[in-house]
Amino acid sequence: MTVHVVFATGNAHKVGEVQDILSAAGGDILVLSLSAWPDAPTPVEDGASFAENALIKARAIAAHTGRAAIADDSGICVDALNGMPGIYSARWAGEHGNDAANLELLLSQVRDVPGERRGAHFLCAAAVVTPDGRERVVEGTIEGVLTTAPAGSGGFGYDPIFKPHGFDVTTAQLSPAEKNAISHRGAAFRALAPVLIELLG
Ligand code: IMP
Repeated sequence: MTVHVVFATGNAHKVGEVQDILSAAGGDILVLSLSAWPDAPTPVEDGASFAENALIKARAIAAHTGRAAIADDSGICVDALNGMPGIYSARWAGEHGNDAANLELLLSQVRDVPGERRGAHFLCAAAVVTPDGRERVVEGTIEGVLTTAPAGSGGFGYDPIFKPHGFDVTTAQLSPAEKNAISHRGAAFRALAPVLIELLG
């Protein structure tokens, strides 16, 4: 039996990416986009953690659609900044989703931090909420270091300045498939696949 879940995101690209990850993880899972629910709410993400924010989005969409909903929340956590930008990654420079300004601000904040203290990780929390109120959250991370200058044109956000451990390139220099294989989002949704089967299969 195919498990259907609605993905609480306005980003059509993410729907395809997460469908690919869940399908590769082996479950018979179909990810529905929000396009069939044009009046779907976009709740304020005022949680104190990635997990809380993912749950806030999934709860809102499960309540609105009457279907099982999945959502994710992610960001970059920089050691030298005590884990910031963290849940504020998307609006670090003030304006939500200004990737270029966010990246420039972060680079300038760690300009004088030496190589051995430039550690950082991306974290992704992936949540599922069922219409009858069952909830689960899993997380995935990828560890690496911040470079001193942007490189690469793939990915988005902070990818041009993030070099994963074991790689000589940034995640912006990897193909989408290469990035999915090692990324925080890939890890989180691969972990979510068996949970979806268990809850909904
Ligand atoms: P969201 O979870 O899609 O809202 O992402 C939050 C923010 O974290 C994005 O705007 C990016 O700044 C950052 N971020 C999350 N995942 C990635 C990634 O894979 N690469 C680069 N930046 C990311």
